[in-house]
Amino acid sequence: MTEPQEQKLLWLNFLKAFTRALVQINLYKPDHPQVRQALDEGQRVLAQLAEAGTGDLSVTLDNDKLLINGTPLLSADKLPNSLKNLYARFRIQTITFAAGATGDDMLAICQMQAHKGDGKAFLKERGIDRITLNEAIYAKVNADAPAGGPAVVNPSSSGRSAAAAAPAAEAPKVAEKINSQAFQDAMTTVVSRVTADPAEQRRVMEILTSKFQEEIEAAVNRALDGIRREKKKVENDMVRAESVMSSLADGVVVVDNDGKILMMNPQAEAISGKPLAQLSGQKIVDLAQIADQVVSLAKEIKSSDKEDISKEVSKAGPADVAETVKKATAIIQNQDGKIVGTVSVPTDTVKMKQVEQLQQDFIATMTHELRSPLTSIKAALEIMSREAPEDQGARGILNTAIRNTERLNSIITDILDFSKLQSGKLVFHQEDNAAGDIAKEAAEAMKAWASSKGLTIAVRTAPELPRIYADRRRTVQVLINLISNAIKFTPQGGTITVAADAGRDALANFVFFSVTDTGCGIKKEDQGKIFEKFVQVAAGEKVGGTGLGLAITKAMVVMQGGRITVESEYGRGATFRVGMPLFKGQGEQPVFEQLPEVKQEEKPWWKKLLGF
Ligand code: ADP
Repeated sequence: MTEPQEQKLLWLNFLKAFTRALVQINLYKPDHPQVRQALDEGQRVLAQLAEAGTGDLSVTLDNDKLLINGTPLLSADKLPNSLKNLYARFRIQTITFAAGATGDDMLAICQMQAHKGDGKAFLKERGIDRITLNEAIYAKVNADAPAGGPAVVNPSSSGRSAAAAAPAAEAPKVAEKINSQAFQDAMTTVVSRVTADPAEQRRVMEILTSKFQEEIEAAVNRALDGIRREKKKVENDMVRAESVMSSLADGVVVVDNDGKILMMNPQAEAISGKPLAQLSGQKIVDLAQIADQVVSLAKEIKSSDKEDISKEVSKAGPADVAETVKKATAIIQNQDGKIVGTVSVPTDTVKMKQVEQLQQDFIATMTHELRSPLTSIKAALEIMSREAPEDQGARGILNTAIRNTERLNSIITDILDFSKLQSGKLVFHQEDNAAGDIAKEAAEAMKAWASSKGLTIAVRTAPELPRIYADRRRTVQVLINLISNAIKFTPQGGTITVAADAGRDALANFVFFSVTDTGCGIKKEDQGKIFEKFVQVAAGEKVGGTGLGLAITKAMVVMQGGRITVESEYGRGATFRVGMPLFKGQGEQPVFEQLPEVKQEEKPWWKKLLGF
């Protein structure tokens, strides 16, 4: 006889092999090595037990205990569900394995798990007689019945379940009761109708709960599986779109929910042209105010986990640049329409800017280089003219040469100014100035040339003029340009009047300069064109120049927040009027802010004019 401890070990080994077979058969075919191995192990342990002379092996599940050959071995809660479910499902109390039971016999009982009908019949059909089932049969107990309750009827009986035998009138009562109960309470009610034995009730509840849990888990897992797959797909789409977007750009700007800048990396600073310290806290769309920046921003920055968000994107920046950037980038989509890449070509704007930059650098260098030798030539000519003998012919030639160098010099000045304006290097230092002084200074500078041409310059300034906010040197230059045109286009004997007045419109907030001549005048149809660059309209006499003078003059006026107009009747002289803003204590504040009409233009007027 085997020692009790050793015997218990064999029992446990058998139970392990048997429950393993019960589980494996649900996963694999009967001839699968996993299944076979478990069954062979079970058969081997049974043979060992038979050898030890213990005879048949009865495995009983009684209330909360598992007994082998009547000896308690384990508490029911330690048992795997597969074994407990087998007992519960077929209402088995004891399974008896005869001494010679084989792995194939055990296979039959394992396969029985999936059977819907009666267990005993299942085994009988397969000719299994070395394993027998003893059913636990409980008498139907009315929950309302007095104590004494249900009793286990003859376990070997083949009677049907008690529930089936319940009086027909009972059903509606239970149904009515559980209808209004929560799930757990409903279960308790139903179970209490099956047995009055609290231990048995507990077991039934346990079995039902564990089955219910298994079912729910499986159903939830099935449902979650679909959701998980969808979620993964969405996440992957987002990761892909984000990586495509980030590969497109070096700069990163982080904004808060209102679109205000929180962080910028150095590349983003370089792109915007301003440091984070200056932009931090500003709205990102305001970056578009820095020339040629295009900002696209989703209308709803916050992401929602409940509602659909708007597809709307707000765009800010010069429309033509935005259009160019858009036209230079194509997105690559996969067959589902999801973004997987982009194709970009350097935009025309970028190329154009590079060429413009080259042009500007070239002009700046060339004009600078031209000017130095020209100054020397002029100085040399002047010395020669002073020292030249009284030879009228030679003196005449020298004077012509000097005039030509002066003209050349003024052309170079025009080109230099134009190139500075184009590159934004022409800086204006606006401050409090007296308009009368500026008018006088400009007229004074041109007097000599005017009188050499037989022209008179008159200066008229209104008394007690308000002060103006202007860059003195540049404003004098503006008037000099206008006076030099007047000199060029006015025949000998004419008069040029330089004036400063408060203007006709007292609300205009400007002081007006005017340069009036008695020259050839400008045709109405040409008056709009003359401020454009490189425009020269046919005039009475052929004069030199670049056609840049008025374009530069207008840009200088407008950049100071002023305005310029022309009035002329062809053949009867012309009047150019320049309005400069009044001084109202402006400091650092750019004058554009006072003049919404200039600021509101989608592209500043002077930029369009100069073709930037
Ligand atoms: P430029 O530098 O060649 O003189 P501007 O831009 O200064 O060019 O002037 C453009 C054109 O406007 C001139 O060619 C001339 O036809 C016309 N214009 C400018 N000022 C006057 C004026 N005071 N009287 C008549 N025509 C003028």
